[in-house]
Amino acid sequence: MDLTRQRFDYIVVGAGAAGAIVATRLTEDPQVTVLLLEAGGEDETIWTKIPLGFAKTITDERYVSNFDTAPEPELHHRRYALTHGKVIGGSTAINGMIYIRGLRLDYDGWADAGAPGWSYEDVLPYFRKLESWMGGADSYHGDTGPIGVENARWKNPLADAFIATLAAIGVGRNPDINGQSAEGGGYTPHNTRRGRRSSTGEAYIKPSRNRRNLLIITQATVTRINFKGKEARGVTFEVGGQPHSVDATREVILSAGALHSPQLLQLSGVGPGRLLQELGIDVVHDLKGVGENLQDHLQTGLTFETTSRDTFNRTMADPFSQVRSAFNYFLGARNGALSIGVSVASCFVHTRLPPSEPDVLMHFLPYLPGPSGWDLSKASGFRMALFKCRPESRGSLRILSKNPHMAPRTIFNHLSTEEDRRSMVDGLLFARRVSQTAPLNRLIIRELTPGFPHAREGEMLDFIRQTASTSFHYCGTARMGKDPAAVVDENLRVRGVSRLRVIDASIMPTIPSSNSNPAALMIGEKGADLVKQGWPA
Ligand SMILES: Cc1cc2nc3c(=O)[nH]c(=O)nc-3n(C[C@H](O)[C@H](O)[C@H](O)COP(=O)(O)OP(=O)(O)OC[C@H]3O[C@@H](n4cnc5c(N)ncnc54)[C@H](O)[C@@H]3O)c2cc1C
Repeated sequence: MDLTRQRFDYIVVGAGAAGAIVATRLTEDPQVTVLLLEAGGEDETIWTKIPLGFAKTITDERYVSNFDTAPEPELHHRRYALTHGKVIGGSTAINGMIYIRGLRLDYDGWADAGAPGWSYEDVLPYFRKLESWMGGADSYHGDTGPIGVENARWKNPLADAFIATLAAIGVGRNPDINGQSAEGGGYTPHNTRRGRRSSTGEAYIKPSRNRRNLLIITQATVTRINFKGKEARGVTFEVGGQPHSVDATREVILSAGALHSPQLLQLSGVGPGRLLQELGIDVVHDLKGVGENLQDHLQTGLTFETTSRDTFNRTMADPFSQVRSAFNYFLGARNGALSIGVSVASCFVHTRLPPSEPDVLMHFLPYLPGPSGWDLSKASGFRMALFKCRPESRGSLRILSKNPHMAPRTIFNHLSTEEDRRSMVDGLLFARRVSQTAPLNRLIIRELTPGFPHAREGEMLDFIRQTASTSFHYCGTARMGKDPAAVVDENLRVRGVSRLRVIDASIMPTIPSSNSNPAALMIGEKGADLVKQGWPA
């Protein structure tokens, strides 16, 4: 592949949630040329289109990549896999599709922490721009954006019982958790359009693919950013093990996600100076925050065996229900069991009395996972999964070698503060209270894990330590801000060097209170606008 005679204004690294949007938006101007380099392949399987397919693709190395965490001190030194999307659309092609933006305070907190222009009022237009909400446009929603947003399409009596139980204990109902108020339980909004997954590959790349000013190369792993002095000039990438170099006349944009963007910065000499020197890497710019501030939502939950027939386990065990679900999906209204993402109903929870902000997000899954976590149990049941919205624990990602193919050392330090431990335990106790309240309690045979009455309050923390794992919401490793440890400024420019930006989940100063994909999509939209603002009128 000879790209030496081709000129690109921008090189975008990674075609995931944010990168696919950036490349699409920049090439809306036919005068602007973009090279989009994606480590994964094309998104050609039907399993990335049918929502239920996430259970298949999540373990398929054609679409995902993995490496393990370091032993987590507060999780009995367990390691677990950091799965992330590696395909056109990135993690949006394989994720659970839950679309909850978070709370107003999340984005106001970003602005207060040194990122002017990122308050809730500032980012709301970008959320509106990217989405087509099933309920139509209003001051909180758009209805003409590329990403479809619909509440879960499987009208499920078990989920209805969960929502009714929440109402019975005073949580209230909310048909639009992304609207004026996030309080109350309701059907979970998903990134789907008429029941099909709305990934950025489908929603952004597909319609822009034939633009003459956009070149997309798949199976292309970027191994370093090339600098002249402190100016980013281009990148080196590998296809089939062969290295290639290419220059950008304007900027290099890193959108490789919160695990790989900081890795690439460090490999290229932008990061903690001492670490880089120890590894024999020439320091382009000593920026100690690169790879620090790593965050995720540690996830826990309770599981129950149920008398209800409306679980996914039952549906899949009964050939007649299977056929009916397939018929509903492929020939009918695209609803029913095949149309679901990971969750069917959700609510924010106050484990402390209001007026405090919600501190836990709970999802209701009308199925009982099997031993691997991604298969189905033979028993019929459901899970209430939850995480602390705004964990205080902070981790880090540091390369261990100059070799770009070696996984970095990644640690989250989950549960390292008393407050994090308390909210997780209180979240489980709240879920148990829901399970013991009508009408849901009438459908429960028994609590399976951790197993009431054996696991009482004091044992909940140990249950979390033994079993909790990732929500896949990695973020924060190239955070925005103005202090010396901040990696990018509010325009997403890497501090201390020129012609280099990061536009992906890495730039979040703090994790949103919800699942992270809506924020990553919004960052793609706003990031593209920030790049465009530098263009001559
Ligand atoms: C299994 C799973 C389930 C999830 N479920 C949900 C959910 O239900 N709801 C929700 O809100 N969020 C969910 N998330 C999180 C959400 O998908 C992410 O927050 C979001 O996709 C992050 O966007 P990003 O642009 O930062 O990175 P990504 O979308 O991960 O994109 C990064 C892209 O960069 C590419 N790349 C990486 N390194 C290189 C390189 N060196 N060269 C070239 N390309 C490279 C990758 O292949 C990938 O395509 C889930 C994530 C996972 C992994």
